[in-house]
Amino acid sequence: MNTQGPLLEVQDLQTHFSTDEGVVKAVDGVDFTIRQGETFCLVGESGCGKSVTAFSILQIVQDPGRIVRGSIHLRQDDGQTLDLAAMDPKGRALRRIRGRDIAMIFQEPMTSLSPVHTVGDQISETLRLHAPIDKLQAREQTMAILTRVGIPRPERHFHAYPFQLSGGMRQRVMIAMALICRPSLLIADEPTTALDVTMQAVILDLIKELQGEMGMSVMLITHNLGVVAEVADTVAVMYLGRIVESADVYSLFREPKHPYTTALLRSIPVIGLTKQERLATIRGMVPHPFNRPHGCTFHPRCDHFMPGVCNRSLPPITHLEGGRTVRCFLYGGADTREREER
Ligand code: SF4
Repeated sequence: MNTQGPLLEVQDLQTHFSTDEGVVKAVDGVDFTIRQGETFCLVGESGCGKSVTAFSILQIVQDPGRIVRGSIHLRQDDGQTLDLAAMDPKGRALRRIRGRDIAMIFQEPMTSLSPVHTVGDQISETLRLHAPIDKLQAREQTMAILTRVGIPRPERHFHAYPFQLSGGMRQRVMIAMALICRPSLLIADEPTTALDVTMQAVILDLIKELQGEMGMSVMLITHNLGVVAEVADTVAVMYLGRIVESADVYSLFREPKHPYTTALLRSIPVIGLTKQERLATIRGMVPHPFNRPHGCTFHPRCDHFMPGVCNRSLPPITHLEGGRTVRCFLYGGADTREREER
């Protein structure tokens, strides 16, 4: 594969849901790039638009969601780029990309595995949909990937139905199904949230190992900063449909810039807290999408809130050294003269 330039480039992506009560701007002007072989993590609290961003890339956003603006450029093996946002969601071209170039694994495997087909049939069907091979070859390759993801006795589990497997095994099956066509990008939406801590570590290690073998990029969506610290190369922090900070993982953990990132990092549980010490929390709640605060949408919860500045207009994106970006008036864009005169 051509390794020049980003594999995926998302620019000014906006995905809105028009409802009777109003328009929900679930994704409201998101920009990011993912390079080949990189692990890109999208983090934030529930309801900040992480999953809708991922669904937008594959154009599988549920009704009444629509991409209303922006582009999603995917670089192909021949170096050409395609704008996924401009393609017909039901068209053949995009269906070919789903599963072959970009695969996705979800938090709960039962939502994406068919309960009435054996896991072997489901994986080999995915392969036969994208590659010109016969049933026997598909079966062989399915056995190989089931073995690779650590399914014991694959010849027996080939004929199992998803409900006959444990949660960890189902997640492995879904990873096998996602990777059978060797995609260039794997999108993993909270892939370990439904699993116990030991199985979380096993599944994350497995994804990392397979990523190294296949050279694919991974977009990991999570609210768990412990997971981010383990696997990420670059991180983007989302709040109410916008990316408020992006940086390489080391810089972000060493020196978070945005007050929301700082608050998220402070609220990671630490071992050894005494009974008197309380875990820090982020003040308030994520606002209702119909009730977006004016200006910086984080201002009602921010410890650095500047009245007359932060609640007046949207902070612009400020580019910092090392390719970092932050959307906060503390780093530029504020008309401080007016504030000083107050
Ligand atoms: Fe806080 Fe103001 Fe920065 Fe928003 S713009 S995060 S309210 S300091």
